[in-house]
Amino acid sequence: MSAVAADSESLCRHNHFAQPAADRSDYRKYAPSREVDILHLALNVQPNFTNRTVAGTSKLLFKPLGKALHELKLDAIDLTIIDVKGSEAIESYQVAKEQIIITFAKPIPVGKEASVEVSYQAEPARGLFFRTTEMGYKDGETHLWTQGEAMDHRHWYPGYDFPNEKFTSEVTCTVPVGMTVLSNGKLISQNTNSAKDSLTVTWKQEKPHVNYLVALVAGYFDKIEDQYKDIPMAFYVPPSDIKEAANSYGNTKDMMAFFEKEIGVPYPWEKYYQVVVRDFTFGGMENTSLTILTDRTLFTKEFEALRRSDGLVAHELAHQWFGNLVTCKDWSHLWLNEGFATYYDVLYDGHKNGRDTLLYRMWQTANSITAVTNEPKSIVYRTYDKPMEQFSYLAYRKGSWILHMLRSQLGESLYRRCIQTYVERNQFDTVVTQDLNAVIEELSGRSYDRFFDQWVYHAHHPELEAEYSYDATTRLAKVSVKQTQKISDKVLLFEFPLEVQFTGKFGATNVQFTVKEKGEDFYVSLPSAPESVVLDPKVALLARTKFKLPNQMLYAQLNDKKQVGARLNAVEQLATKKDQQTVAKLKEVLNKDAFWGVRVEAAKALQSIHTDEALAALIDSQTQKDARARKQVLESIGGFFSDSTLRTATAALGGEKNPDIIAQAVRNLGAYSTGEVEEILKQQLKSESYMNVTADAAVAAMRTQDNPIYIAPLLAVLKERENKFTTRGFVAGLDALAYLSRNETEKAVVREFLVGLVKHPKEGVKLGAISSLGTLEDTQAVAVLETFATAARESPERTAADKAIAQIRSAKRPSDNLATLRSTLLELKKESSETRKELDTLKKQLQATDPKSGAVKKKK
Ligand SMILES: [Zn+2]
Repeated sequence: MSAVAADSESLCRHNHFAQPAADRSDYRKYAPSREVDILHLALNVQPNFTNRTVAGTSKLLFKPLGKALHELKLDAIDLTIIDVKGSEAIESYQVAKEQIIITFAKPIPVGKEASVEVSYQAEPARGLFFRTTEMGYKDGETHLWTQGEAMDHRHWYPGYDFPNEKFTSEVTCTVPVGMTVLSNGKLISQNTNSAKDSLTVTWKQEKPHVNYLVALVAGYFDKIEDQYKDIPMAFYVPPSDIKEAANSYGNTKDMMAFFEKEIGVPYPWEKYYQVVVRDFTFGGMENTSLTILTDRTLFTKEFEALRRSDGLVAHELAHQWFGNLVTCKDWSHLWLNEGFATYYDVLYDGHKNGRDTLLYRMWQTANSITAVTNEPKSIVYRTYDKPMEQFSYLAYRKGSWILHMLRSQLGESLYRRCIQTYVERNQFDTVVTQDLNAVIEELSGRSYDRFFDQWVYHAHHPELEAEYSYDATTRLAKVSVKQTQKISDKVLLFEFPLEVQFTGKFGATNVQFTVKEKGEDFYVSLPSAPESVVLDPKVALLARTKFKLPNQMLYAQLNDKKQVGARLNAVEQLATKKDQQTVAKLKEVLNKDAFWGVRVEAAKALQSIHTDEALAALIDSQTQKDARARKQVLESIGGFFSDSTLRTATAALGGEKNPDIIAQAVRNLGAYSTGEVEEILKQQLKSESYMNVTADAAVAAMRTQDNPIYIAPLLAVLKERENKFTTRGFVAGLDALAYLSRNETEKAVVREFLVGLVKHPKEGVKLGAISSLGTLEDTQAVAVLETFATAARESPERTAADKAIAQIRSAKRPSDNLATLRSTLLELKKESSETRKELDTLKKQLQATDPKSGAVKKKK
């Protein structure tokens, strides 16, 4: 599963979950006991698109395991059970809060094949979602889709809903004629009824998989069809998106070929279909042979390199092996699904776009992981409350780094053999981390217990402080390394290989040390003093490293054509300097480095240097062929408060064609309260762009400006152009409207508009309107909110309403100082930029009149 379209990230990392108490039996989570071996699941459902309900039967074929079975418990939430039948006599059945308990007249003997069939109806709150015209979706695009992971299928059919059980499955679905029905496996039959108004379709998954991978999509779609070897492939989209479909489908076949070769195991399923749906709750979901994708993954060519679907498409395709063929046994080992999918997306990117791309992505990922200080959770973690909590950066990004370190340490070919063996040995089965550890030990002959213990079963990463010196008499280079992470029962002292690269007149020498103490010195004999010393030049270690080097060494490192890691590290360190020579070097990198990622980082470094020279360097570097660098330069310029920032932003609006870069220019304008800017923002609010990205940016800029003059135009656009916005964009508009209005004395018009949306059939809009009423801080909205807050059943609406009411009650009474404060702040920003200029001039004058001060500094 993936949470965002652009890359594989987790949805939940900003959420805070309740911790179960240590004295409760569910404090640590394990897979439940299996009382039966489930052989087959057959669903037969008929959705009602008008009432947004499902009626059907769920039939399970099973054999009791271990001992004779008296009772069978199935997971089911909020289902109306109509009848339960079975191959064996049923004494009674009982519908509990989250289960159906079926009691048999006589215990079913171990190994005897038996079946139960439950007839039910559901109005699912989760698990199955409708997207219909009545809900505000486009005419002719009504559809439904399901989402099982983690454990949500129990909201629309009864079954065994935990990943430690695999079975074959089939889905039969009856829909109006003209609709497409998609599910796992292969198409078995497709029959129109005698009245020619409905269609019954059956798909069968003949190889076993787990419950959360069962999927159903039904509705009106257009498609692209293709084939890889004898595997049918297709890409379905709502009809109005067919023009863009090929952009996102693009490299799927190439990925298929790459993964088969890289993993060494042929694609295991009947077909590979991808289907794009509206307002999907994640980025993508890898249901066996039927991946569902968010429509945010679609894009037009005008976005250039800024938008791609490859990351998401590769992630979900990699899951067809890692997650679907080999599945984590319980949620504590989720990284065996998500870490692999995340890493194999990066491996494909490296295959397609080169080694620098692969290393840059791992370098960025390492920076984001090591930015978290004192992470107490290990990757394998049992003390969670809800399974969704496990879908965090630990399973995804840190999981991918575990594999990257294994590949770096074992070498590519041994790593590949290990993974192939791991997949072959465990296919159609479930796994825990030890299964991977065992294969690696067996094939490499080396012990990997410590590796998994420190990186996977314990938390955090090494925090290193390194120093370097060279003794000209002994010709010895010395590298001292300290591990400074706080060591506890959760975080270990690490042992790991550390590569150091010395470059000088003697060429390049790479040495590998094994770091294992709290503080150690390493010596290397070199013919002369090196010009540069780089720690971990091949980006093979997950660590936070402080390694201070003189500027000249960092400049030398910028020229390391072979190691992108060396250049990235140098740019990162130079970002903390202020001198003009560094600015000049970074400007050169920004305009000349062969790799776009280094250019992007150089722009960020200039932004954080934040001198006038740095701004001038950025302004001079706007002509960038690669859209990713071009956007970053504009974004970095936006980090400065100056007249020239304002000018570059307005100029970009005139010259740019790329909607994401235009949107960036609009966001940059948010910092400036001038009449001209106000007019531009009002215009952009009505601009036409793919998925309304430039209007979204205008909304964001208006919110930043916090100026009530925007209330009327924003309200008008939200009313008149709702269908131009994505659900997400529209909701951001509602929130901005409420935010701009929160200090007004008269809020009735905005309140009435928002109240009119709290029963919107689009779940996203409904929730957005409820929470915007909280942002509005209007006590007169409490009565409406209470109708949701007092609902008996827990629901997203109730949670949102509770939060909104709390926000209204805790709101400070509007202070008329706020507007004044805002303008004072803007004034201060201007002044501080002028003061800085004056200070810099003074400094320069001082240096000019006192040359000694410069000389002394240099010696240090
Ligand atoms: Zn995933």
